[in-house]
Amino acid sequence: MINSGSSSIKYELFDLDDESVRTSGEAQRIGERESSLLHRWNDAQGSAEELTYNEPLADHAAAFDAITTALRESGSMQELDSLAGIGHRVVHGGEQFKTPTEIDHDVVEAIRAVCVLAPLHNPANLTGIEVALELFPEVPQVAVFDTAFHHSIPAHAYRYAVPASWYREHQVRRYGFHGTSHAWVAHEAAKYLQQPAAALNLISLHLGNGASAAAIRAGRCVDTSMGLTPLEGLIMGTRSGDIDPAILFHVSKATGADIEELESTLNRESGLKGICGVNDMREIQRLAESGDADAQLAIDMYCYRIKKYIGAYYAALGHVDALIFTAGIGENAALIRQQACEGLENLGISIDDEKNASDHHDGTFEIQTDSGPVKLLVIPANEELEIARQTAACIKGK
Ligand code: AMP
Repeated sequence: MINSGSSSIKYELFDLDDESVRTSGEAQRIGERESSLLHRWNDAQGSAEELTYNEPLADHAAAFDAITTALRESGSMQELDSLAGIGHRVVHGGEQFKTPTEIDHDVVEAIRAVCVLAPLHNPANLTGIEVALELFPEVPQVAVFDTAFHHSIPAHAYRYAVPASWYREHQVRRYGFHGTSHAWVAHEAAKYLQQPAAALNLISLHLGNGASAAAIRAGRCVDTSMGLTPLEGLIMGTRSGDIDPAILFHVSKATGADIEELESTLNRESGLKGICGVNDMREIQRLAESGDADAQLAIDMYCYRIKKYIGAYYAALGHVDALIFTAGIGENAALIRQQACEGLENLGISIDDEKNASDHHDGTFEIQTDSGPVKLLVIPANEELEIARQTAACIKGK
């Protein structure tokens, strides 16, 4: 699995027989002076090893070189010789890509064509694909799209109430992101509840540095909070989520800020950071506990936005079997889970404070009261394994 970002490359090598991770790592700050590669592997005795290579990684090709060297030096190269496939995370698949797709020249060009919809992400994903195609020409490579899980969303939920020509000529519609994560937790919830996915209505909350909600009916996504881009919806670390679009006109007229400045402010200086100056939830919770009013407001706004989406998706689904929390905040911040669900008892959403506060779980756990009709599940995110599984299924299904 390769996740190639603008300045980083994450990789994980899975043995799909037992779904164990054989080797993993991350090249960071590619193109900067302080770049480095953290490489993890199991030695011949099976004990975990890791090594940080501090060397200049001028570009993605140099980073892949360093990764290959690290793989060779840690003795993992033979495993690469028997690689069954490589799965690439691709953020935006536009309207064309509804499923994981084996990569050939046409697919590369089609991914390039949707760069206009994800200028911060798709070009970096493509660079990773192009370098990996050169390095491993014999290995089947598959693009797994963050948008694909959301392709079942109906038009009344994916269209915006703007001139129809914006949709027809400029592809303006809701695409949604974090699809691999929402798909993963939907599978895991079905497994945990021992029911087929097709029998379950779910609300999934991916609460990490980026955050999104999804309404899932009978295993298929019917709405999600992110839109044309990952900026819409829940409050995030540095992204605003929903705002009145007229705020942009007002601020531009008042300050003279141009489109690029406004785009950057909404993506990088807003969200939790915009409200209280900090985007890390652990730090925000510490500040709030010590009496910082802005940090407390950030938490209150964050939880209130989540609660509004739970209500909206409850209404969209009509019946909810389980509400799922995943990713850094969803998995670890009991206080946020509690505050987001507060007052929803009449919807059957009722948190057991003791179960919610207990930690040291290995895998999925439930936090609803014994009589709570809606299951409240905390499910560890694992987009990497989901990408590996989807890659294997795509190659097998050829
Ligand atoms: P992710 O993008 O999934 O890695 O999530 C990152 C977010 O999870 C950051 O805001 C972290 O502060 C937050 N996070 C991680 N662990 C905790 C924790 N124990 N309590 C509160 N927030 C946490």
